[in-house]
Amino acid sequence: MSRVPFLDLSAAYHELRDELEDALLRAARSGFYIGGEEVALFERAFAAHSGSAHCIGVGNGLDALRLSLLALEAGPGDEVIVPSNTFIATWLAVSQCGATLVPVEPNPDSHLITADGIAAALTPRTKVILPVHLYGQPAEMGPIMDLARRHGVKVVADAAQAHGARYRGQAIGGLADLSTWSFYPSKNLGALGDGGAVTTNDPILAERVRMLGNYGSREKYLFELPGMNSRLDPLQAAVLRVKLTYLEEWNARRQRIAQRYIDELSNGEWRLPNTAADADPVWHLFVLRHPQRDVLQRQLRTQGVETLIHYPLPPHRQQAYRGAWPADAFPVANQLSAEVLSLPIGPQLSDDHVSHVIRCLPG
Ligand SMILES: *Cc1c(COP(=O)(O)O)cnc(C)c1O
Repeated sequence: MSRVPFLDLSAAYHELRDELEDALLRAARSGFYIGGEEVALFERAFAAHSGSAHCIGVGNGLDALRLSLLALEAGPGDEVIVPSNTFIATWLAVSQCGATLVPVEPNPDSHLITADGIAAALTPRTKVILPVHLYGQPAEMGPIMDLARRHGVKVVADAAQAHGARYRGQAIGGLADLSTWSFYPSKNLGALGDGGAVTTNDPILAERVRMLGNYGSREKYLFELPGMNSRLDPLQAAVLRVKLTYLEEWNARRQRIAQRYIDELSNGEWRLPNTAADADPVWHLFVLRHPQRDVLQRQLRTQGVETLIHYPLPPHRQQAYRGAWPADAFPVANQLSAEVLSLPIGPQLSDDHVSHVIRCLPG
């Protein structure tokens, strides 16, 4: 029986092994171990690829969010609108800045928050709207940016799952005031360890993010802001420069797998993921909804198909936020967390494995 892994990171490494090892050795031998050319060249390439004027490499995706909120001076007394269904990092960044979380329920078909949902949650204290391009599906940035501009609030987009995604034909990295990225190994653009970035078209915000991630300094031993230390490692930047040149091709492989799932799984008790007409998603995850999700997951496991749940418990029901909201505060997030199931998808998943997954789903 074939065993289908959810995502095979060592296969990804081996596909590019020679190029990656050359890049790693080059960086190791360079004599520059913080910043330097590898980081600068990656930042330039990623800014261009993501459709933005500036890219600042940082330590990870959580720091990218925190630094973006700090650059906008979001803090105590300010409200930040977030999705009720996201990876907990989106929420933790807000909490760690001392700002107040205002969760908004997603549209249950797209799993994304909408401008209408956000509009109903705006108050005079709203400082930032923080949509997430969840599962690689771009949020509706046109209406969200219009709403934000009308109300004088800023937008930080969490793009950790959406490297290469497009909205109305445009790369998403320049659409919000600031967009944040993670290069955690399993992301569409993944390092061999932690990494992250912030992209923006605003040179002043870019400078602030860069200073805040470098002890609040732009000139050695002069500290203008109470910053932190969060920088992209040059060894990871060297790896990411190689992998960025494969991102489009690897996203196209994900797209082909997603299209097979969509075409060949049209009959079943599940609901297939939904893509907006003006969005080009990058299928970080392929997420079904099924009323007996746990039964289906067990059944697939006995047939060798590994699936995951993104995410089994929404942030408001995590121990980290105990006491802050009643369990039933966000019924859409609760229902999605009970029904979602992520099928294997990735650039190294073979056609035979995709066929096996499809055969195992009882249509
Ligand atoms: C992965 C992820 C993050 C955090 O990234 P790290 O690099 O692990 O800190 C933030 N938001 C979302 C939506 C993510 O998927």
